[in-house]
Amino acid sequence: MRTSYDVTIIGAGLAGLQCARLLARQGLSVLLVDRKNTLDQKVHTTGIFVRRTLVDFDLPEDSLGPPIKHVTLYSPAHRSLELVSQHDEFRIGRMGQLYQRYLQQCLHAGVDWLPQTSYLGHSIANGKLTLRLSSASITTRYLIGADGARSRVARDLKLELNREFIVGVENVFEGAVLDGPPRLLCFLDPKLAPGYIAWIAHDGEETHLGVGGYPSLFDPVTALQDFRSRVEDIIDVGKAKQIESRAGFIPVGGVLGNIANSTGLLIGDAAGAVSPLTAGGLDPCMRLSAFAASVVTEYLSTGDVQALQAYSGELFRSRFASRLWARRIAAGLRQPQLLELGCAVLRLPVFSRLANHVFFGRGSFPDVMDQPTLVCRQHS
Ligand SMILES: Cc1cc2nc3c(=O)[nH]c(=O)nc-3n(C[C@H](O)[C@H](O)[C@H](O)COP(=O)(O)OP(=O)(O)OC[C@H]3O[C@@H](n4cnc5c(N)ncnc54)[C@H](O)[C@@H]3O)c2cc1C
Repeated sequence: MRTSYDVTIIGAGLAGLQCARLLARQGLSVLLVDRKNTLDQKVHTTGIFVRRTLVDFDLPEDSLGPPIKHVTLYSPAHRSLELVSQHDEFRIGRMGQLYQRYLQQCLHAGVDWLPQTSYLGHSIANGKLTLRLSSASITTRYLIGADGARSRVARDLKLELNREFIVGVENVFEGAVLDGPPRLLCFLDPKLAPGYIAWIAHDGEETHLGVGGYPSLFDPVTALQDFRSRVEDIIDVGKAKQIESRAGFIPVGGVLGNIANSTGLLIGDAAGAVSPLTAGGLDPCMRLSAFAASVVTEYLSTGDVQALQAYSGELFRSRFASRLWARRIAAGLRQPQLLELGCAVLRLPVFSRLANHVFFGRGSFPDVMDQPTLVCRQHS
């Protein structure tokens, strides 16, 4: 290991791994740091990838479960709305394996990997950026915070911090029995999942049972137990093997505005890059990290601080306006009767298109190459 790098990335979740391998492929020296010992431990995502990500990125086939086209949306009284896509819409990632595969690609591209190491802080003296890590001190030209929803790097760099969170918990099973094809089952219930949903994601091999909601409004562990007994008639996990429990905070306030300065920038959850409506963050991890890698490469090769101006959350926020409104509405819907009514409306053929759009629409995180600023930069 060296003592000086072009770029140091804190956090080897999907955002950090994606960014590290792209930067190293550009010939930069990259150090990737994570406090975890191995990346297949303490996974905190269900790992549902949407079609747009599956089409646009090179996710390893052997790290993905069978495709899913069916979604069932349940009202609080368990009245259901069935949605079926013509396409394979979702696949559940085998996330431990996927992280390991991406780590292998990082190492192959020349990234230095420092596991079991925490980022503790940084200092700048004589224009030199020094990072204090739990196992070493190193200097770096640029720092990237991929350290998750409650990012320490964001705080240290005086960038914007996530302020609105939901919390999700789930159990993962092998061998659960659910009749019919692989599918996602989403349950609207303000007690079990205030402001979000409870879910069963079943791809025929793996089954995830989870609840999410605003942490001040429920106890997620108790809610998950209640949910499990409420869905006994739908899914039988009695003889299934529980292989994991997962949990984590999800920032749902939309992508943050101020996410870069001349010392460092933020990607993934640290940048609030999560859909406020669906709480999906994996597609944003892939897209924003790719964008960050191109901006940082340009900045370090030219030394031109202007390059960083393109990396502003403000560019994306306007594209999230409707989803932020939908989040406000979801956060305020506390009456089961209101949700029941909303679900009854969605079952009307004319409105079921809206439900189809939410689940099967192709609008995840905006494609950065769609941004006018970037298109201009590319052509200039
Ligand atoms: C229960 C749950 C289910 C979800 N399901 C889905 C889903 O199905 N589909 C979807 O699209 N999105 C989902 N999300 C959201 C999605 O998982 C996240 O948006 C995404 O995983 C964020 O990745 P990341 O790399 O930014 O952060 P993380 O995966 O959180 O990675 C951050 C890394 O930084 C490390 N780290 C943190 N602090 C330090 C430090 N000081 N020093 C060193 N290392 C540090 C951590 O160990 C961690 O490995 C879910 C989230 C949760 C909580």
